[in-house]
Amino acid sequence: MLKQKEYVFWFCTGSQDLYGDKCLAVVAEDSKKIVDALNRSGVLPYHIICKPTLITNALIRKTFEEANDDENCAGVITWMHTFSPAKSWILGLNEYRKPLLHLHTQFREEIPYDTIDMDYMNENQTAHGGREFGHIVTRMGIERKVIAGHWSDADVQKRISDWMRTAIGIVESSHLRIARVADNMRNVAVTEGDKVEAQIKFGWEVDAYPIHDLAESVDSVSLADADALTDQYYNDYKILLEGRDKDEFRRHVAVQARQELGIEKFLDSNGYQAIVTHFGDLEGLQQLPGLSIQRLMQKGYGFGAEGDWKTAGMVRLMKLMTENKKDAKGTSFMEDYTYNLVKGKQGILESHMMEVCPSIADGQISIKVCPLSMGDREDPARLVFTGKVGRGIAASLIDLGPRFRLIINAVNCKKTEKPMPKLPVATAFWTPEPSLATAAEAWILAGGAHHTAFTYDLDVEQMVDWADIMGIEAVVIDNDTTIRALKNELRWNGAAYA
Ligand code: MN
Repeated sequence: MLKQKEYVFWFCTGSQDLYGDKCLAVVAEDSKKIVDALNRSGVLPYHIICKPTLITNALIRKTFEEANDDENCAGVITWMHTFSPAKSWILGLNEYRKPLLHLHTQFREEIPYDTIDMDYMNENQTAHGGREFGHIVTRMGIERKVIAGHWSDADVQKRISDWMRTAIGIVESSHLRIARVADNMRNVAVTEGDKVEAQIKFGWEVDAYPIHDLAESVDSVSLADADALTDQYYNDYKILLEGRDKDEFRRHVAVQARQELGIEKFLDSNGYQAIVTHFGDLEGLQQLPGLSIQRLMQKGYGFGAEGDWKTAGMVRLMKLMTENKKDAKGTSFMEDYTYNLVKGKQGILESHMMEVCPSIADGQISIKVCPLSMGDREDPARLVFTGKVGRGIAASLIDLGPRFRLIINAVNCKKTEKPMPKLPVATAFWTPEPSLATAAEAWILAGGAHHTAFTYDLDVEQMVDWADIMGIEAVVIDNDTTIRALKNELRWNGAAYA
């Protein structure tokens, strides 16, 4: 599933005609060289297209309007090679609705001490032109990313690459569709939220369907198709019978295979990229979707349990933002379950009733069939594994009533000290930054949920940038967090976002 469009980014260089055609020819040539080098770097996840140098109000406005209209354009990167009078940008910026990156770079890295003259100074004026441009974008109150440094620098290229992934999360958010086939779990607060406001802020369409429609789609899958997919499961995963009858075991697994095909058909035919379920509302479904949902998440669909559409939306977006990332380690719906509070070994055991995405798996993935302690259906089949080691982020989107807040915690994933042979679910184990105690206190004070969208493949800055463009508050919990500063931040943000 994942993404349908072939996204590209536009590179728009600002200049003016004060220094003559010769200077403008150099500007155009330098821009091409930078774009070619960035495209050849192998670092950027998306191609950049070099647009003609922008020098007039009319051309700037036309270019931004075209960027809006071009479905494949995911954002514009601006660079002021020379001084570009910023009033020329007002009309275009007023029209523009996509992510904007101001690359504050300069063609040459070093001052050419022996040859520098006034022509060179006029031609290489980003120190001055970039500030003029920045002034008007700030005055107009437009959210954008600013990245300063030489374009050949590996860190600058990495930051452009990271921003591109954030931009995809912004552009894709505007047409994300989430199917609800069950309501929120009764009496639970944190998975609730204002779906109208989510559509206004994020662009998300969150629609409800009777679970009957989903069950009907599952029932429409032929037994032969379900059987073929079950064969594939038996080929790909280790089967852990653990004393169960092998034919009965396979029948339970085949139910999930049929669900995988049926739920996918339901989502694709109705145009949804994310789904929620609820263990207490399964109607015609034989089992709570476990293995089926795990595999659908791996294919790129968003998921939230107990009707949690906000986390489902974030999981989907984070999967899109990390698409095709080299050495990606995975993205999943997750839940804070159980603590290890032993000094020096503190951490949170992460899991869910079943629904953890196998993209985060380290090594062997097995199938188990076990009873659920909740709900009233037959024992569901599920994939069991442990998560990878490494740094990641856990994000929780909450609705505070008048507004949304995104809480982002940097976490360090580890192996548990010992295996947990009696636990029939996939798990991860992490120590949140700056420490379990401070992170848990900060998370609770900020109002974070027990469900999160987790990934190894994005960083805090990318999610903060996403929240900024969406116009919502981002609260970061990482090694810089202290409770005193966080409490003040929450107070001040209450005023800033009121
Ligand atoms: Mn849950």
